Amino acid sequence: MDKIRIMQWGFGAMGSGMVELISKKSTMELVAVYDKREEYRGKKVSDILKGVNLDVEIVDDPLNILDNKKIDVVIMATSSFVKDVTDDIISVVKKGVNVISIAEEMAYPWISNKDLSQKMHDEALKHKVSIVGTGINPGFVLDALIIMMTGVCKRVDRIEASRINDLSPFGPTVMETQGVGITPGEFEDGLKKGTIVGHIGFPQSISLIANVMGIELDEIKEVREPIISKTKRETKYVKVDPGMVAGCKHIGYGIKDGKKVITLIHPQQIKPEIENIETGDYINIYGDPDIKLSIKPECPGGIGTIATAVNTVPLIVEAKPGLLSILDLPLLRIAN
Ligand code: NAD
Repeated sequence: MDKIRIMQWGFGAMGSGMVELISKKSTMELVAVYDKREEYRGKKVSDILKGVNLDVEIVDDPLNILDNKKIDVVIMATSSFVKDVTDDIISVVKKGVNVISIAEEMAYPWISNKDLSQKMHDEALKHKVSIVGTGINPGFVLDALIIMMTGVCKRVDRIEASRINDLSPFGPTVMETQGVGITPGEFEDGLKKGTIVGHIGFPQSISLIANVMGIELDEIKEVREPIISKTKRETKYVKVDPGMVAGCKHIGYGIKDGKKVITLIHPQQIKPEIENIETGDYINIYGDPDIKLSIKPECPGGIGTIATAVNTVPLIVEAKPGLLSILDLPLLRIAN
């Protein structure tokens, strides 16, 4: 069988991990890499990823490459928001190529950007290709995994799930958007100004779950509060003294008839172990029967995102055309 030919679009923390993983898959071939960074011009993957012996070019004209080298799938790892990725996605779709995106809002883009989603859907139908959003979260832990677990239930009344994870490996951008290393007052100001956002993806995950439960939600509500440190904590990028913010506890609620039918809790902080906080993913489904799933420690965010995107490659080439969600694809499984 012919190998699935891939272009990696976005060669940052996630994209470079995907490139490395694709190179190890016997059914896939990495044809080109594109990133807008000037410093990558004229370089090869092996010039940037030390220890990875990959003679693949980092190109500056991705659309030309799509015209001239047969590509089956583009994996896009550039940004979080639908408004920022739509033009790039449509430019790829117009070349008759499938797109996997890890932009958090692409997990269910209809929620945040109905018109842009319709545009992407129409172009995908016209060019007979598929577009899908995935990743560790949204895309897996607080939606796909929960949805799978409902499959063993006769009835589901309510869902409460949490993902408790460690922010220590992440860099300055994440520290800023989660409000780590500032005072509680500065955190409140950041929330008001919109510079502190916590997790991106609750409306998408909650809507995917509600669809499966057959519920039309009245409201999706999000609450963000600072995790105040009792101890001194430090990472490569940030220092936190007692009384300062070590992370953000972000909760999303799906509300129907005044009841919280879906509750997703996502406290993220640096060095949780210093205050004896165990990381993990926990899913509680209340119904018939009740289901309790716990994964300790949590599914790792970086590896999990890299793997979910690459493992989606064989699924998207077989998928029906259009702007899809994980609900439209077969069960995620490891790709070879
Ligand atoms: P990163 O900043 O390390 O890398 C992004 C790369 O994309 C950079 O090299 C940048 O130059 C490049 N880029 C940006 N816009 C581009 C464009 N229009 N065309 C070409 N290249 C472009 O970020 P990352 O950690 O790799 O994450 C990428 C995105 O994926 C982030 O927005 C992140 O929030 C999201 N993400 C989602 C999940 C999930 O679970 N769904 C998980 C991890 C990351």
